[in-house]
Amino acid sequence: MKNNLQSEIIRKLKEAKDLSTANPDKSYKLCKKLYQLSKENQLKSEEAYALLGMSMACRVKSENHKMLEYTFHALGILKELNDTIGVVRSLNLIGIAYFYSSMYEQALNYLRQAMDLLETCKDDFLMSCVLNNIGEVFRETLQFDVALEYYQKTLNLCYNSDLKINAASILSNIGEIYFLRNQHSKAMDYFAQSYDILKQEKDMVILSEVENRLGKVYYVNKESEKAKDYFIKALKKIDSISNKFYAIDILLNIAMLEFEKDKKASFYYLDKAKQYAEETNAKKKLSMVLKTAADYYEKTGDFETALAYYKKYHGVEQEVTALLIGNKLEILKLEFEHLDGKQKYTNNELMDQRLEMEILNQRRELEKIQQLNQKLEEKLYEDELTQVPNRRYINKHLNKTWEEADSDLIVVLFIIDIDNFKKYNDCWGHPEGDKCLIKVANCLKEIQTKRKDVFARYGGEEFLYYAENINYDQAKELGDLLRNEVENLALSYSIENDSQILTISVGGVFGRIANYDKLTNMIQIADKELYKGKSMGRNRTFIKNMFES
Ligand code: GH3
Ligand code: MG
Ligand code: MG
Repeated sequence: MKNNLQSEIIRKLKEAKDLSTANPDKSYKLCKKLYQLSKENQLKSEEAYALLGMSMACRVKSENHKMLEYTFHALGILKELNDTIGVVRSLNLIGIAYFYSSMYEQALNYLRQAMDLLETCKDDFLMSCVLNNIGEVFRETLQFDVALEYYQKTLNLCYNSDLKINAASILSNIGEIYFLRNQHSKAMDYFAQSYDILKQEKDMVILSEVENRLGKVYYVNKESEKAKDYFIKALKKIDSISNKFYAIDILLNIAMLEFEKDKKASFYYLDKAKQYAEETNAKKKLSMVLKTAADYYEKTGDFETALAYYKKYHGVEQEVTALLIGNKLEILKLEFEHLDGKQKYTNNELMDQRLEMEILNQRRELEKIQQLNQKLEEKLYEDELTQVPNRRYINKHLNKTWEEADSDLIVVLFIIDIDNFKKYNDCWGHPEGDKCLIKVANCLKEIQTKRKDVFARYGGEEFLYYAENINYDQAKELGDLLRNEVENLALSYSIENDSQILTISVGGVFGRIANYDKLTNMIQIADKELYKGKSMGRNRTFIKNMFES
């Protein structure tokens, strides 16, 4: 009776295992039922294998915590039963769970334990899985040559033992390394070999992964229709097993593809990728998604959203970098401990070299982030049309300069407004008006650059000019210079068939920093002077002298 039940459970466990990638939810439920049934009937081995089945279903669903929990539970039982194959399978799954959580040191530790045990009981299938996973850890930590060594070893093993799916998976992994090294035709070769094998199998995860990878090669080869076909196929397959972790990469690729054609669609896929990365707590992927979002918003000119994404990206990236470096060092330490005395010495030097490399890499990474931030910071304070500093710049930088200045410092501040600019627009059209604004801005900026003053677009057709250490006569001269130089541009337009040359009005305020509570005070006074100039017929400079009142 018990024997019958036992073989029934074993049969059903196999069924659940076959279901695990195609329908992980169903597989999980079945395993859980079998787990309870085994437990009630004191079938220890079946209880442990049911737990491993639950863990595998969780693997497909990217539920790493549950995966670890069930596998550790199973490992305990299997050790008691002295079931070496079961123990190896558990150690391998634990390694994978750590790998998915970016904890490479722990991953490698468990995978190596599995390898050590496999020396005693030969099982080519399991060995190919474990070797491949070790390769994955090295690939993920960017140690490509070591990864390739492991993959090649695994591939030979698979060919010798006719392990088709594993061979396909490794071919695809080798292709990915060539892709990462920009050797695209070689990558395509490996992906195509893998795809040929997989089309006859039904492993959704690997199949979708290869389709996604094929799509990427078509994309870099600028065959975007083909690329999209493959990405969509890959997404459909991975969606059918509700695997969010693997879907992130595919969604990002579609967002990238759509960005040139359909921005709305692109942001839709990007948002979905972000949501999946947050839900699965996949930090590295989240960092990638945030960076992509920042880039895309920057490209569309939405600098504020871009900055918000850059900030988030910066935070997550720092976390990932710190984690990655820490883990790499731990991996090196582990490698070191696994070698015997003679090799230890040479490995010690090797370790020093690698450590140096890692530190160098990390510094470069940090510099890249800092440069990006710097670039964005500059963009944020620059006017998009005229590329001179904008109002944000005034509010932040000029305000700071002003507040930090000696209260005895004598300064002049001008507000400059183009005369009859509405009429200029009416005459030539808005796009020509834009060009005119650029010309005026460049003209004024030239003066500012020579004198090392401050100049910014205040908004619309208004600008701000600020100079320190100047006397009243010089300030008056400067105001007139600004005006004359714009007039000399000879930008003409007509009002009711009467030809005009474009001019500006300049309103200024001159005095000690101590004369004003804050910068906006100065701006208000200059504005009043500007208004005077306008009402007196335009193309004039009026400056309030604070020493006279
Ligand atoms: P005033 O001499 O009294 O200053 O007359 P104005 O026509 O210059 O002033 P008004 O405030 O009536 O109109 C300002 C115009 O500037 C209206 C607006 O369309 C135009 N303008 C503001 N920003 C831009 C821009 O970025 N590009 C273009 N082409 N026009 C702009
Ligand atoms: Mg105006
Ligand atoms: Mg105006």
